[in-house]
Amino acid sequence: MAVSICAGCGSAEVSRFFRAENVPVFCNVLWPTREEALAAPRAEIDLACCGGCGLIWNTAYDPSLVEYRARYENSLHFSPRFQQYARGLARRLIDGYHLEGARVVEIGCGQGDFLRMLAQEGCRCVGFDPSYAPKAEGRGENAPGMRIVRDYYGPQHAGEAADLVCSRHVLEHIARPLEFLAMVRRSLEPGEDSRGEPGGEASIAGGGVPVFFVEVPNAMATLVDLAVWDVIYEHCCYFTAVSLRELLERAGFEVLRVSEEFDGQFLAAEARPRRGGSVCGPDPAAVEEVMRLCGKFEMSYQEKVSNWRAQLREMSSRDRCAAAWGAGSKGVTFLNVLAPDSSVVETVVDLNPRKQGLFVPGVALQVMAPEELQSTRPDVVVVMNRVYAEEVRAMLSGLGVAAELVVA
Ligand SMILES: [Zn+2]
Repeated sequence: MAVSICAGCGSAEVSRFFRAENVPVFCNVLWPTREEALAAPRAEIDLACCGGCGLIWNTAYDPSLVEYRARYENSLHFSPRFQQYARGLARRLIDGYHLEGARVVEIGCGQGDFLRMLAQEGCRCVGFDPSYAPKAEGRGENAPGMRIVRDYYGPQHAGEAADLVCSRHVLEHIARPLEFLAMVRRSLEPGEDSRGEPGGEASIAGGGVPVFFVEVPNAMATLVDLAVWDVIYEHCCYFTAVSLRELLERAGFEVLRVSEEFDGQFLAAEARPRRGGSVCGPDPAAVEEVMRLCGKFEMSYQEKVSNWRAQLREMSSRDRCAAAWGAGSKGVTFLNVLAPDSSVVETVVDLNPRKQGLFVPGVALQVMAPEELQSTRPDVVVVMNRVYAEEVRAMLSGLGVAAELVVA
């Protein structure tokens, strides 16, 4: 991605503020053998922030390194806490926009976990995802009224009529987010078919205006709460409320609501196609605040990393052993950034059966089922996300594992 021009608003007022070298290209592709995990591709992160709209992006990002295939696995749906959130979200969207029986398109539906929830509520659902693997272990059946196309969503699918288009945790993976949103916006235009010609099936049911729901990680959680393990190569863009709103408006949407969800870790926006009218542009004070936080991020990051190094060395000197709970983005980043000190973490566990038995890129630790902790008996369990601390505590107690619980 270009260094000098913002991928959101085109501004040249760009400040680079954080670099990380040798990070795994994929945190969410685990490897069948230790050797492959050790040799997993690595690349560089070089973050910049735009003074025009507050968008943060990786200027060193090379999309040709990142192709989403069936091996890509980032489902969070094995966590009861996450499921509860997703179910509540499905309900809120259906109730809020009167979507009973509505047509839903999900862009980047993964294995269809969220789509299934909407289908179970009576929606007619189509999902698109290149990493869709119908026979994936632990994957539920498709609900009636639901189908998934194994493909990237593109203009060729725009004829798929929808009352709700949703896209969760996709936009941050897209190098040209404005073009992507503009493409989605065009697909919601009534009376045009997939070739952009008049006369196709309208994307509007019963005269209502289709709703677009987009959810991304909240960069404020990274910048303010120092969720530093969220800085990963797969995410080429990082959004705060101001940059997400600006991007949607530039793409031709009217933003109905932007909210922080999931304990502030996600940012969700609801929007609909804008019919004329002007927009006021990003709030300069909000952009300035993002710039200020970016300016001190490198120092806060280094401080957090050295604190963790000290903590891990202390564990090691006292012959304590640790386990990591969660082999997703945060866990993989934690283990790699803190290597070699992270070798005191002897076990990594994950609830997702599709990850178990595979090896973490870089540090090449094998992912186990949580039950494995009954035999490894760690002194400390490092939970990768504080949101899951309570459910992990309950599961550890259920397993009879008495370990000290700390949040990464
Ligand atoms: Zn910008």
